[in-house]
Amino acid sequence: MTQAADPSQADSTVYKTLLESTKAIPWQIDWASARFTYIGPQIEALLGWSPSSWVTVQDWAERMHPEDRERVVAFCVAQSQAGTDHEADYRALTKDGEHVWIRDVVHVVRNEAGDVESLIGFMFDISERKRTEQKLLALQRELESLSFKDGLTGVSNRRMFDSALEAEWEEARRTAQPLSLILIDIDYFKQYNDCYGHIQGDACLKRVAQVLAGAATRSRDGLARFGGEEFVLILPGTDAAAAAKVAERCRSLILKEQIPHACSPAGQQLTISLGVGTLVPTHTDAALDFVARVDQCLYQAKQGGRNRIVRADSPWAAR
Ligand code: GH3
Ligand code: MG
Ligand code: MG
Repeated sequence: MTQAADPSQADSTVYKTLLESTKAIPWQIDWASARFTYIGPQIEALLGWSPSSWVTVQDWAERMHPEDRERVVAFCVAQSQAGTDHEADYRALTKDGEHVWIRDVVHVVRNEAGDVESLIGFMFDISERKRTEQKLLALQRELESLSFKDGLTGVSNRRMFDSALEAEWEEARRTAQPLSLILIDIDYFKQYNDCYGHIQGDACLKRVAQVLAGAATRSRDGLARFGGEEFVLILPGTDAAAAAKVAERCRSLILKEQIPHACSPAGQQLTISLGVGTLVPTHTDAALDFVARVDQCLYQAKQGGRNRIVRADSPWAAR
């Protein structure tokens, strides 16, 4: 090893070697001309564009995902003008037309007079980190949807129903609109399981859920699995007459399916019983009392022979 004759020359060789052997990609832009004065050769390995193809700030902006461009360019220009060091994440375009997530860390260099002279920075490949972040985000979303979804039937679960009822109750009270509820219970489902086994029982529950989901047509109508072989339909902005029609549609759609139930004391096919209630909630009403009243109707439908609907406004419905 020979000692370099000019120490400053030796320094710059060392710095250049160091800069160009790191994973971070160094660059420099002259502020006045908005042109690159340097970019590390590593850029070519990452994005495919040769260092000599990075000429102006425009090249940098154009090699950015269109969805990121406006936000990132505006941010970086504003920060640079203010003389503030900053960083930005964006998707850089590769020569093959793909995108790579980059974190650009920018330092603003001023001259002795305090004016911005140049920008120097490092680009980091953060695609791995972004992939992990996105995977986590997707998992979180899935978890959220799963925690509101019934695992077997795929319709909303009890938890979702509870929060939907709370929200719709409040909305109905505020807007003085009727809110209807239909409780649905499969008839003799214990016998169905005994007759066909639990696996087929589960398949039957899925099928019933699908059919019931098709019975309510308005966008805010919601079907949930209330528990076991019971379902609930929440019908905002729906009066008693309309709710009665939906209930009748549920009952007849299930009959139309002709699901065999050889062990049903009520006949040879699967049937459901329904309780229906409607009210315009006031401050003195409680949602749970309302649900209990609709449940009473369902109980009466069972008592009355099953495969039928009892409405809270029917003369025979208990109060
Ligand atoms: P009723 O006409 O009075 O409603 O009679 P039922 O037999 O339907 O009512 P009961 O409450 O006696 O029994 C409900 C049955 O539903 C018992 C239980 O095994 C079954 N069940 C509840 N949840 C599930 C489930 O997730 N899968 C299966 N296969 N069966 C279930
Ligand atoms: Mg039941
Ligand atoms: Mg039942």
